[in-house]
Amino acid sequence: MGAVMNQNHSREQLWAQLNQEWDLIIIGGGITGAGIFRRAVSGGLKTLLLEAADFSSGTSSKSSKLVHGGFRYLRNGQYDVTFESVRQREKLLKQARNLVTPLGFVFPHNASTRQKRMYRAGIIIYDLMALKWKHRHLNLTQLRETMPVLKPKGMAGAYLYYDALLDDSRMVLRLIQETIEDGGLALNYARIESLLKDTTGHVRGVAVEDRSRSNLGTQELKARAVINATGPWTDKLREQLGRQSRVRPLRGSHLVFSFDDLPIPHAVTLMHPQDKRAMFAIPWEGRTIFGTTDLDHQVPLDQEPYCTDQEVAYMLEAIHSIFPDSKITESSVISSFAGLRPIVRGDANNPSAESRAHLVLEEDGLVTVTGGKLTIFEIMAEDTLKAVLPQLGKELKPIRYWFKPNPAFLSDNRLSQQSFHYLAGRYGQALPDLLTMSDPQSLQQVDDLYLYWAELPYNARHGMVEHLDDLLLRCTRLGMLLPQGGMGVMNKVKQLTKSELPWTEEEWQLEIARYQDIYQKAYSPNPESHLK
Ligand SMILES: Cc1cc2nc3c(=O)[nH]c(=O)nc-3n(C[C@H](O)[C@H](O)[C@H](O)COP(=O)(O)OP(=O)(O)OC[C@H]3O[C@@H](n4cnc5c(N)ncnc54)[C@H](O)[C@@H]3O)c2cc1C
Repeated sequence: MGAVMNQNHSREQLWAQLNQEWDLIIIGGGITGAGIFRRAVSGGLKTLLLEAADFSSGTSSKSSKLVHGGFRYLRNGQYDVTFESVRQREKLLKQARNLVTPLGFVFPHNASTRQKRMYRAGIIIYDLMALKWKHRHLNLTQLRETMPVLKPKGMAGAYLYYDALLDDSRMVLRLIQETIEDGGLALNYARIESLLKDTTGHVRGVAVEDRSRSNLGTQELKARAVINATGPWTDKLREQLGRQSRVRPLRGSHLVFSFDDLPIPHAVTLMHPQDKRAMFAIPWEGRTIFGTTDLDHQVPLDQEPYCTDQEVAYMLEAIHSIFPDSKITESSVISSFAGLRPIVRGDANNPSAESRAHLVLEEDGLVTVTGGKLTIFEIMAEDTLKAVLPQLGKELKPIRYWFKPNPAFLSDNRLSQQSFHYLAGRYGQALPDLLTMSDPQSLQQVDDLYLYWAELPYNARHGMVEHLDDLLLRCTRLGMLLPQGGMGVMNKVKQLTKSELPWTEEEWQLEIARYQDIYQKAYSPNPESHLK
């Protein structure tokens, strides 16, 4: 049997299992918490991961989907961040095969020799950091052949360099699933309400509230160490210890377009015409995503972040500058999404100049990790556990693998080799289970997406789905990739998943209404119009 979330235990059974003496409780089920969970359980620690909402529902489902060195950080002189990220990218391409895949980036330059030299120098440093020599120059004829839509004013050529692409939520879910299989316990919709302290003020546990549909109440849990991996919410828990804020939440938004509207075989790196910030157009899951912005986030953290009208206009301006012949308008936007970077507050006025380095703090027994980025989650996990081990008085066993090896290609006349590898990247060793429960019709792709219909019932059964948005926005990305959040295929979604989800007809209607509300206010092409 492959990796299956919590081995099919009921919510009530899992809730009852929480009450044990833990080595470690990790608060937060984004990539940071998931990485620490993987490393801690592999290292032999008895570990519990608790997530307030759905796994990856914070920033970790709303990134630019890149495993990258951060070429633009070189510009800010953040060489150490770029170096460790480039090295991690190379590792992840091997460790998380087919979940993390190579992606070419076209980076246009103008006729200025200075600009061309500067870009070239940056790209060479970038390649050398990875001990590679993969970049090349494209002249205008080659560019016209490779990417005819790319026509920024004054373009004289471009460099093609390589980074990597992933589905961020699937990475979080794979890490969590495979760690549960190895003996860890993880629960979503379990919110930490307070930290429990002993008489000396040292954190010794947490009070957790069940936020699921089952409404199982609150319980107090003891642990030898507690880790705060709550991303943008980091300071909320630290406030309970009377600590000053350290996180500057910076919002980044993206727009999603059909591939036909922005047909790009490689990603494109560009500078926004207004402020010269680096932005990307990225082919992803049969669509093209464009982003991102970088703004101080003034909205309360309990409200799902959304892309503002101003951000939409700012991104369209960049698109028109680089793809001037495209017919893209506001009405071409399929969806939008916005996430909050949990940046360690520095002294930069300009949000984009803030360091992307991570920070580990030990305060009254609570170990907090924040900042950083998805690409370096392994380094963040190792650094966090280094800070925790003195509290545990234990050694961490070496890790065999962060991701279990993908299953070997099984000749299955329902799937091409390419499709098999795509699904193997997303589900790892659980893929044979998915194939067993799928009929030939469900092993068809959804419209012009990479996604397979079969992923819906599989996740409905094994993905710890509490709400429809878990299934459509994170376990699968159908809601972000189809127009109107996929409302046009809702009957089919229901037909495929209703035997897996314990919802009455009335509950289905409530779930659809809840999903539509979330979609409109945080994922639609124009969230602000739904918030007024
Ligand atoms: C627009 C944008 C683009 C980005 N692009 C990239 C990229 O391409 N590549 C890259 O490497 N990085 C990228 N990043 C950075 C990366 O996405 C983040 O660094 C990373 O996702 C942060 O993960 P996290 O687990 O720390 O936080 P989160 O993913 O936000 O997870 C924190 C979790 O804690 C939970 N939580 C909060 N409070 C509680 C509580 N009291 N009890 C229980 N749980 C709680 C939340 O519900 C949440 O799920 C990007 C970030 C943004 C915003």
